[in-house]
Amino acid sequence: MNILVAISRVPDTTTKILVGSNGRNIDTNNVKFILNPYDEFALEEAIQLKEKNGGKVIAITVGPAQAQETLRSALAMGADEAVHCKIESEFDSNTVAVNIADYAKRMNPDIIFMGKQSIDFDSLQLPSLLSEHLNLPLATIVTKLTIEGTSVKAEREIEGGKELVETSLPCIISAQKGLNDPRYPKLPDIMKAKKKPIEEIEATTSDLFVEVVGMELPSKTRLNKMFGSEDADINEVVRLLHEEAKVI
Ligand SMILES: Cc1cc2nc3c(=O)[nH]c(=O)nc-3n(C[C@H](O)[C@H](O)[C@H](O)COP(=O)(O)OP(=O)(O)OC[C@H]3O[C@@H](n4cnc5c(N)ncnc54)[C@H](O)[C@@H]3O)c2cc1C
Repeated sequence: MNILVAISRVPDTTTKILVGSNGRNIDTNNVKFILNPYDEFALEEAIQLKEKNGGKVIAITVGPAQAQETLRSALAMGADEAVHCKIESEFDSNTVAVNIADYAKRMNPDIIFMGKQSIDFDSLQLPSLLSEHLNLPLATIVTKLTIEGTSVKAEREIEGGKELVETSLPCIISAQKGLNDPRYPKLPDIMKAKKKPIEEIEATTSDLFVEVVGMELPSKTRLNKMFGSEDADINEVVRLLHEEAKVI
Protein backbone atom coordinates (compact mmCIF):
# COMPACT_ATOMS: atom_id res chain seq x y z
CA MET A 1 0.00 0.00 0.00
CA ASN A 2 1.35 3.44 -0.93
CA ILE A 3 0.52 5.83 1.88
CA LEU A 4 1.13 9.58 1.82
CA VAL A 5 1.02 11.62 5.03
CA ALA A 6 0.94 15.42 4.98
CA ILE A 7 2.97 16.87 7.81
CA SER A 8 2.82 20.40 9.09
CA ARG A 9 5.50 22.21 11.11
CA VAL A 10 3.95 24.31 13.85
CA PRO A 11 5.13 26.30 16.88
CA ASP A 12 5.28 24.26 20.09
CA THR A 13 2.09 24.82 22.07
CA THR A 14 4.15 26.09 25.04
CA THR A 15 5.93 28.74 22.93
CA LYS A 16 5.24 32.38 23.69
CA ILE A 17 4.11 33.77 20.35
CA LEU A 18 5.02 37.33 19.35
CA VAL A 19 3.92 39.20 16.25
CA GLY A 20 6.73 39.93 13.77
CA SER A 21 7.92 43.47 13.05
CA ASN A 22 5.81 43.73 9.84
CA GLY A 23 2.63 43.02 11.86
CA ARG A 24 1.58 40.31 9.40
CA ASN A 25 3.27 37.16 10.64
CA ILE A 26 4.72 35.64 13.79
CA ASP A 27 8.22 36.36 15.00
CA THR A 28 9.88 32.97 14.56
CA ASN A 29 13.03 33.91 16.53
CA ASN A 30 13.34 31.66 19.59
CA VAL A 31 10.26 29.67 18.56
CA LYS A 32 10.55 25.92 18.96
CA PHE A 33 8.74 24.09 16.17
CA ILE A 34 7.17 20.65 16.43
CA LEU A 35 5.27 18.21 14.27
CA ASN A 36 1.62 19.28 14.30
CA PRO A 37 -0.04 17.14 17.04
CA TYR A 38 -2.96 16.08 14.80
CA ASP A 39 -0.43 14.89 12.21
CA GLU A 40 0.94 12.44 14.78
CA PHE A 41 -2.45 10.67 14.72
CA ALA A 42 -2.36 10.71 10.91
CA LEU A 43 1.16 9.29 10.82
CA GLU A 44 0.46 6.62 13.45
CA GLU A 45 -2.58 5.41 11.50
CA ALA A 46 -0.50 5.30 8.31
CA ILE A 47 2.27 3.30 10.01
CA GLN A 48 -0.22 0.83 11.51
CA LEU A 49 -1.83 0.37 8.10
CA LYS A 50 1.55 -0.31 6.53
CA GLU A 51 2.46 -2.75 9.32
CA LYS A 52 -0.76 -4.64 8.57
CA ASN A 53 -0.75 -4.54 4.77
CA GLY A 54 2.84 -3.85 3.74
CA GLY A 55 3.88 -1.01 1.48
CA LYS A 56 5.45 2.27 2.43
CA VAL A 57 4.67 5.50 4.22
CA ILE A 58 5.90 8.74 2.67
CA ALA A 59 5.75 11.93 4.73
CA ILE A 60 5.57 15.21 2.84
CA THR A 61 5.80 18.77 4.04
CA VAL A 62 5.66 22.07 2.20
CA GLY A 63 7.70 24.77 3.86
CA PRO A 64 11.02 26.53 4.34
CA ALA A 65 14.39 24.78 4.88
CA GLN A 66 13.77 24.36 8.61
CA ALA A 67 10.76 22.12 7.85
CA GLN A 68 13.24 19.26 7.38
CA GLU A 69 13.51 18.94 11.20
CA THR A 70 9.81 18.07 11.26
CA LEU A 71 10.32 15.45 8.57
CA ARG A 72 13.09 13.93 10.71
CA SER A 73 10.53 13.55 13.51
CA ALA A 74 8.21 11.77 11.06
CA LEU A 75 11.05 9.46 9.97
CA ALA A 76 11.87 8.73 13.63
CA MET A 77 8.24 7.79 14.26
CA GLY A 78 8.32 5.31 11.38
CA ALA A 79 7.79 7.00 8.02
CA ASP A 80 9.83 5.17 5.36
CA GLU A 81 10.58 8.18 3.20
CA ALA A 82 10.32 11.94 3.47
CA VAL A 83 9.73 14.60 0.85
CA HIS A 84 10.48 18.25 1.43
CA CYS A 85 8.69 20.55 -0.96
CA LYS A 86 10.80 23.66 -0.49
CA ILE A 87 9.31 27.12 -0.48
CA GLU A 88 10.90 30.25 0.94
CA SER A 89 8.39 32.83 -0.29
CA GLU A 90 5.10 33.60 1.46
CA PHE A 91 2.51 30.88 0.89
CA ASP A 92 -1.10 30.14 1.74
CA SER A 93 -3.14 26.94 2.15
CA ASN A 94 -3.86 26.68 -1.57
CA THR A 95 -0.14 26.76 -2.45
CA VAL A 96 0.39 23.85 -0.05
CA ALA A 97 -2.57 21.94 -1.52
CA VAL A 98 -1.41 22.45 -5.12
CA ASN A 99 2.08 21.16 -4.28
CA ILE A 100 0.91 18.11 -2.33
CA ALA A 101 -1.58 17.34 -5.10
CA ASP A 102 1.18 17.55 -7.75
CA TYR A 103 3.31 15.10 -5.78
CA ALA A 104 0.36 12.79 -5.11
CA LYS A 105 -0.47 12.67 -8.83
CA ARG A 106 3.05 11.36 -9.46
CA MET A 107 3.14 8.77 -6.65
CA ASN A 108 -0.49 7.64 -6.87
CA PRO A 109 -1.10 6.89 -3.18
CA ASP A 110 -3.79 4.42 -2.11
CA ILE A 111 -4.60 6.68 0.79
CA ILE A 112 -3.58 10.13 2.05
CA PHE A 113 -3.59 10.93 5.76
CA MET A 114 -3.50 14.39 7.24
CA GLY A 115 -4.32 16.07 10.52
CA LYS A 116 -7.77 17.61 10.97
CA GLN A 117 -6.10 21.00 11.36
CA SER A 118 -2.78 22.70 11.64
CA ILE A 119 -2.63 24.26 15.11
CA ASP A 120 -0.78 27.37 13.93
CA PHE A 121 -3.00 29.09 11.36
CA ASP A 122 -6.05 26.88 12.10
CA SER A 123 -7.44 27.45 8.62
CA LEU A 124 -8.73 23.85 8.30
CA GLN A 125 -8.58 24.25 4.54
CA LEU A 126 -6.01 21.71 3.43
CA PRO A 127 -8.05 18.47 3.51
CA SER A 128 -10.88 19.97 1.45
CA LEU A 129 -8.55 21.76 -0.96
CA LEU A 130 -6.56 18.57 -1.53
CA SER A 131 -9.73 16.56 -2.05
CA GLU A 132 -10.82 19.09 -4.68
CA HIS A 133 -7.45 19.22 -6.45
CA LEU A 134 -7.20 15.40 -6.58
CA ASN A 135 -10.91 14.70 -7.04
CA LEU A 136 -10.70 12.15 -4.21
CA PRO A 137 -13.27 11.37 -1.49
CA LEU A 138 -12.48 12.87 1.91
CA ALA A 139 -13.54 11.83 5.42
CA THR A 140 -12.69 14.53 7.95
CA ILE A 141 -12.23 14.48 11.74
CA VAL A 142 -11.94 10.69 11.80
CA THR A 143 -11.72 8.92 15.18
CA LYS A 144 -11.94 5.32 13.97
CA LEU A 145 -10.94 3.78 10.67
CA THR A 146 -11.48 0.30 9.23
CA ILE A 147 -10.11 -0.65 5.84
CA GLU A 148 -10.90 -3.99 4.21
CA GLY A 149 -9.78 -4.40 0.61
CA THR A 150 -10.73 -1.11 -0.96
CA SER A 151 -13.66 -0.52 1.38
CA VAL A 152 -13.17 2.26 3.93
CA LYS A 153 -15.39 2.76 6.98
CA ALA A 154 -14.76 5.83 9.12
CA GLU A 155 -16.25 7.12 12.34
CA ARG A 156 -16.37 10.91 12.45
CA GLU A 157 -16.71 13.07 15.52
CA ILE A 158 -19.69 15.39 15.27
CA GLU A 159 -21.39 17.68 17.79
CA GLY A 160 -22.76 15.43 20.53
CA GLY A 161 -22.16 12.13 18.73
CA LYS A 162 -20.56 10.13 15.96
CA GLU A 163 -21.23 9.78 12.27
CA LEU A 164 -20.35 6.66 10.30
CA VAL A 165 -19.31 7.12 6.69
CA GLU A 166 -18.19 4.72 3.99
CA THR A 167 -16.08 5.31 0.95
CA SER A 168 -13.44 3.44 -1.02
CA LEU A 169 -9.74 3.72 -1.74
CA PRO A 170 -8.12 5.89 -2.93
CA CYS A 171 -9.27 8.53 -0.48
CA ILE A 172 -8.16 11.19 1.99
CA ILE A 173 -8.58 10.89 5.75
CA SER A 174 -8.12 13.77 8.19
CA ALA A 175 -7.28 12.55 11.69
CA GLN A 176 -8.80 13.64 14.98
CA LYS A 177 -7.44 13.02 18.48
CA GLY A 178 -8.57 9.54 19.63
CA LEU A 179 -7.92 7.80 16.31
CA ASN A 180 -4.98 6.00 17.96
CA ASP A 181 -2.16 6.49 20.46
CA PRO A 182 0.81 7.87 18.54
CA ARG A 183 4.05 6.03 19.37
CA TYR A 184 7.01 7.80 20.92
CA PRO A 185 10.11 7.44 18.74
CA LYS A 186 12.87 5.45 20.47
CA LEU A 187 16.37 6.93 20.72
CA PRO A 188 17.88 4.57 18.09
CA ASP A 189 15.08 5.54 15.68
CA ILE A 190 15.76 9.23 16.31
CA MET A 191 19.46 8.66 15.60
CA LYS A 192 18.72 6.64 12.44
CA ALA A 193 16.27 9.31 11.23
CA LYS A 194 19.04 11.93 11.36
CA LYS A 195 20.91 10.03 8.63
CA LYS A 196 17.99 9.12 6.35
CA PRO A 197 17.86 10.97 3.03
CA ILE A 198 15.11 13.51 2.46
CA GLU A 199 13.97 14.03 -1.11
CA GLU A 200 13.90 17.72 -1.96
CA ILE A 201 11.61 19.15 -4.59
CA GLU A 202 11.01 22.79 -5.47
CA ALA A 203 7.51 24.03 -4.75
CA THR A 204 5.58 25.72 -7.48
CA THR A 205 4.41 29.08 -6.25
CA SER A 206 1.13 30.68 -7.16
CA ASP A 207 -0.66 33.93 -6.44
CA LEU A 208 -1.97 33.94 -2.90
CA PHE A 209 -5.73 33.42 -2.72
CA VAL A 210 -5.73 35.01 0.72
CA GLU A 211 -3.43 37.73 2.01
CA VAL A 212 -2.68 38.27 5.70
CA VAL A 213 -3.11 42.01 6.27
CA GLY A 214 -2.62 42.04 10.03
CA MET A 215 -2.06 39.91 13.07
CA GLU A 216 -2.48 40.77 16.73
CA LEU A 217 -2.25 39.03 20.06
CA PRO A 218 -5.43 38.54 22.08
CA SER A 219 -6.22 41.33 24.51
CA LYS A 220 -5.47 40.35 28.09
CA THR A 221 -7.82 42.89 29.68
CA ARG A 222 -9.64 41.36 32.64
CA LEU A 223 -13.39 41.79 32.54
CA ASN A 224 -13.65 41.84 36.35
CA LYS A 225 -17.25 40.63 36.38
CA MET A 226 -18.61 40.05 39.88
CA PHE A 227 -21.41 37.61 40.70
CA GLY A 228 -23.43 36.74 43.79
CA SER A 229 -24.32 33.23 44.93
CA GLU A 230 -27.99 33.09 43.87
CA ASP A 231 -29.05 30.37 41.40
CA ALA A 232 -29.48 33.03 38.70
CA ASP A 233 -25.88 34.22 39.23
CA ILE A 234 -24.54 30.70 38.89
CA ASN A 235 -26.56 30.18 35.73
CA GLU A 236 -25.11 33.40 34.35
CA VAL A 237 -21.54 32.29 35.19
CA VAL A 238 -22.15 28.97 33.40
CA ARG A 239 -23.65 30.80 30.41
CA LEU A 240 -20.65 33.17 30.14
CA LEU A 241 -18.13 30.34 30.49
CA HIS A 242 -19.97 28.45 27.75
CA GLU A 243 -20.91 31.22 25.31
CA GLU A 244 -18.21 33.85 25.79
CA ALA A 245 -15.14 32.19 27.28
CA LYS A 246 -16.02 28.95 25.44
CA VAL A 247 -14.18 26.88 28.03
CA ILE A 248 -17.08 24.55 28.90
C1 LIG B 1 -2.43 34.15 3.78
C2 LIG B 1 -1.53 33.17 4.43
C3 LIG B 1 -0.15 33.32 4.30
C4 LIG B 1 0.70 32.40 4.92
N1 LIG B 1 2.04 32.56 4.80
C5 LIG B 1 2.87 31.63 5.34
C6 LIG B 1 4.28 31.73 5.20
O1 LIG B 1 4.76 32.62 4.54
N2 LIG B 1 5.06 30.80 5.80
C7 LIG B 1 4.54 29.78 6.52
O2 LIG B 1 5.29 28.94 7.05
N3 LIG B 1 3.20 29.64 6.66
C8 LIG B 1 2.37 30.55 6.09
N4 LIG B 1 1.02 30.43 6.22
C9 LIG B 1 0.51 29.28 6.90
C10 LIG B 1 0.41 28.14 5.98
O3 LIG B 1 -0.09 28.48 4.72
C11 LIG B 1 -0.57 27.21 6.63
O4 LIG B 1 -0.13 26.86 7.91
C12 LIG B 1 -0.62 25.93 5.87
O5 LIG B 1 -0.93 26.22 4.55
C13 LIG B 1 -1.69 25.08 6.45
O6 LIG B 1 -2.91 25.52 6.00
P1 LIG B 1 -4.18 25.32 6.88
O7 LIG B 1 -4.03 26.18 8.11
O8 LIG B 1 -5.36 25.47 6.01
O9 LIG B 1 -3.99 23.80 7.31
P2 LIG B 1 -5.09 22.93 7.92
O10 LIG B 1 -6.14 22.65 6.90
O11 LIG B 1 -5.52 23.50 9.23
O12 LIG B 1 -4.19 21.64 8.15
C14 LIG B 1 -4.73 20.33 8.01
C15 LIG B 1 -3.63 19.38 7.71
O13 LIG B 1 -3.01 19.71 6.47
C16 LIG B 1 -1.66 19.29 6.50
N5 LIG B 1 -0.79 20.44 6.31
C17 LIG B 1 -0.97 21.70 6.75
N6 LIG B 1 0.06 22.48 6.39
C18 LIG B 1 0.91 21.70 5.70
C19 LIG B 1 2.16 21.93 5.07
N7 LIG B 1 2.71 23.13 5.06
N8 LIG B 1 2.76 20.88 4.46
C20 LIG B 1 2.19 19.65 4.45
N9 LIG B 1 1.00 19.39 5.02
C21 LIG B 1 0.38 20.40 5.64
C22 LIG B 1 -1.43 18.67 7.87
O14 LIG B 1 -1.69 17.29 7.80
C23 LIG B 1 -2.48 19.36 8.70
O15 LIG B 1 -2.83 18.64 9.87
C24 LIG B 1 0.15 31.33 5.65
C25 LIG B 1 -1.24 31.18 5.77
C26 LIG B 1 -2.08 32.09 5.18
C27 LIG B 1 -3.56 31.91 5.31
